Amino acid sequence: MILVATDYVGLRQAALEIFEEIFTAEDRERTLAAAESAANRDEIIERAIPQRTLSPGYYERVIYLLDLEEMTQVVQVGLREVDESEIRGITVVRQAREETLQKYPPCPHCGKRNSKFMPRCRACAKPLEN
Ligand SMILES: [Zn+2]
Repeated sequence: MILVATDYVGLRQAALEIFEEIFTAEDRERTLAAAESAANRDEIIERAIPQRTLSPGYYERVIYLLDLEEMTQVVQVGLREVDESEIRGITVVRQAREETLQKYPPCPHCGKRNSKFMPRCRACAKPLEN
């Protein structure tokens, strides 16, 4: 049996998927709104919704770690109150966030984050230097 809390490879994957979902949320909403009147509406919706590859426990743990990370930034938490799997888990989540941020660099003109493969900014439409 795999213990989710100490499966850092799985947690890293779940965190990457969660951040990817967050970073693509706006585009997805636009796609879904446009799909409303499309003939192949169900197909578009099916493709637009990101597929999670792990069991729900991993995503729940990542959400927990994100909450814990936020809390430890607000209140002083002693090291003894946070266990090793939580410390390592937060580190994994931070690395996954950093990795996702690099995939979505900010536009040099308006600051909006775009996929690094986009030729133009989706907010201001100016060309991106990639
Ligand atoms: Zn821009």
